[in-house]
Amino acid sequence: MNMITNHMPTAELQALDAAHHMHPFTDGAELAAKGVRIITKASGVTLTDSEGYEILDAMAGLWCVNIGYGRDELSDVAARQMKQLPYYNTFFQTSHVPAIALSARLAELAPGDLNHVFYAGSGSEANDTNMRLVRHYWAAKGKPDKKVIISRHNAYHGSTMAGASLGGMTPMHEQGGLPIPDVVHIGQPHWYAEGGDMSPEEFGLLRARELEAKIAELGEDKVAAFIAEPVQGAGGVVIPPSTYWPEIQRICDAHEILLIADEVICGFGRTGNWFGSQTFGIRPDIMTIAKGLSSGYVPIGGSIVCDEVANVVANAGDFNHGYTYSGHPVAAAVALENLRILEEEKIVDHVNDVAGPYLAEKWGQLADHPLVGEAKSVGLMATIALTPDKSSRANFASEAGMIGLRCRERCFANQLVMRHVGDRMIIAPPLVIKPAEIDTLVERAARSLDETYASIK
Ligand code: PLP
Repeated sequence: MNMITNHMPTAELQALDAAHHMHPFTDGAELAAKGVRIITKASGVTLTDSEGYEILDAMAGLWCVNIGYGRDELSDVAARQMKQLPYYNTFFQTSHVPAIALSARLAELAPGDLNHVFYAGSGSEANDTNMRLVRHYWAAKGKPDKKVIISRHNAYHGSTMAGASLGGMTPMHEQGGLPIPDVVHIGQPHWYAEGGDMSPEEFGLLRARELEAKIAELGEDKVAAFIAEPVQGAGGVVIPPSTYWPEIQRICDAHEILLIADEVICGFGRTGNWFGSQTFGIRPDIMTIAKGLSSGYVPIGGSIVCDEVANVVANAGDFNHGYTYSGHPVAAAVALENLRILEEEKIVDHVNDVAGPYLAEKWGQLADHPLVGEAKSVGLMATIALTPDKSSRANFASEAGMIGLRCRERCFANQLVMRHVGDRMIIAPPLVIKPAEIDTLVERAARSLDETYASIK
């Protein structure tokens, strides 16, 4: 076979891709018919495809390229680490400097007494770890029946059996007989879609109290943990009402339920603080991390665990769990360098003080568009809801998701990657985005909305 390179014609690459590559979250037949878009390089916030077309990546890949593309410091660190020690494991009483250094740094950065890190290769794997960890913790405390995990409808916690079960995505549950036992779901704090005539604050309390009702129904001695994203990302950037998280925290504290904050998207600056938990005043017992930990340059995930859980687990014999790549030295070294850049270049402050407020102002103006029912953001994650009727917050009932899909296609034609979740459009650009690039982003989004609106009138 000939060498397959960036220089091959796009059509040939597409044919090979269709023949041999199975894609995640993709309708294979549709993809084969349309042909994939092939990204060949990227710099800052801009992608280039195999046709030389430049696109502003308002999704930071999959919400992960926090420091932007093309930072040679990370590739240099990876090359150095590969020469020094490309691999060693962290099983059976061994360790290495990158894993030690990264753990110590994460313990410094994480709030409260979240001082202990268990590594995984991804966010999904880290949530599998969390599920086993909390059950092992309660069993070690003499409560082996305390094993149910409560999550939320429309949550996303990954694609492994545990991750997809913890998530609340019906289309995922329908494939493969999920959720697995002892995972249950309560309602989400999605006021725009489900809040009816209530105020957002009333609705936030109502949804939080579903947790208390579920604990009462199951029995406190059966429930191990509650897991949630500070802001539901893949569910459509669902920013909870201000009343929601304080009430959830109160309920977890009152009923001895561990609180797992899934920070895979919100972590490492996305909401204007190092962690979404800080933005929303959450005091988690465990945080799931991945994505922005390495800015997506290498795969790595993990769980940051509080003193109490880590100490009980440490004194309960072997924790029979781990991954070949737990604490992989190259991934750990790259993550550490990524954290150095985030800190030294004050990128989290940039989100909080400059880019986040600027996006909020510009993005908020999209709410005036006739197709937009709400336009909201927190830090550098934002959403708009498309609607045929602004006053009632109605959906496009007959064609659910089709208008969102059309808008996404218009965005791409206008050199912008914006994702759609049904009829919600969402963005989460690299955290280094500059105000002038936000102007370009919002202009392209507005043009795409105009074109979508024109197409349905
Ligand atoms: N948790 C959340 C909140 C996520 O958004 C994701 C991925 O999008 C995951 C977990 C799963 O992470 P991964 O795709 O690295 O397995």
